[in-house]
Amino acid sequence: MSITAKLLRVYQADRQIRGLKGRVQAAERFLKQREKALADLDAKRDSLSGQARHLKAAAHNDETEIAGIEERIDKLREQLNAATTNKQYTALLTEVNTFKADKAAAEERALETMTRMEEITASLEALQDERAEMVKLRDLARAERDARMAEIQERLTELEAERAVAAEDLPPDVLAEYESEVEFRDEDVMASIQEMDRKRLEYCCGACQVLLPVDVVSSAINGGSINRCPSCRAFLYIEQATRDAAVPTKR
Ligand SMILES: [Zn+2]
Repeated sequence: MSITAKLLRVYQADRQIRGLKGRVQAAERFLKQREKALADLDAKRDSLSGQARHLKAAAHNDETEIAGIEERIDKLREQLNAATTNKQYTALLTEVNTFKADKAAAEERALETMTRMEEITASLEALQDERAEMVKLRDLARAERDARMAEIQERLTELEAERAVAAEDLPPDVLAEYESEVEFRDEDVMASIQEMDRKRLEYCCGACQVLLPVDVVSSAINGGSINRCPSCRAFLYIEQATRDAAVPTKR
């Protein structure tokens, strides 16, 4: 068996493996979408939890501040009751009023904080429900993917074993060359040489249709080494019928 024929075995196994995996891909993509949606919800939850913690600390600060102001006002009231002059009384009263204004401002802030806390708590609760729903959808998508996977598994294992045997049979440098090409193109890693005009020795690449040099065609017919299309770099092989037609005496 020529190297090209051995390479063709690897290529054909790869194509069948890819075709088989294609059946799972849609389910796989769907599962990835669900997982992404779940991760987005988790990020949103983390952000809201962070805000809730921040607001809790702010509420605590507001309470402490209000308590402090109330204490100050109580002391000033005592002093007010003990005031002996009108001037003293007026000064203390002004101070009480300033603290009262501060307290009102702090209370307003505290109220805003509380309102915002309630909003965030409600958002978090809604998010928990949404998340629980999404976990169910993600699990369904995963079960679907696993079911599709189970359907192909047996045939896939067979093909992968065939592919491994065929690859083992190839010179390592040829296999490496082929595999690096596979990374860059999905289709047409190998292409058949197609006859255009036998008498004029015109043959083209089955992948890109470019006319092939005569030495590439004769090398492929003789089945010696690996031949690649000079234009699209596909690995070339020649069908038995095309070869037989090209070399009628060898039929
Ligand atoms: Zn080509």
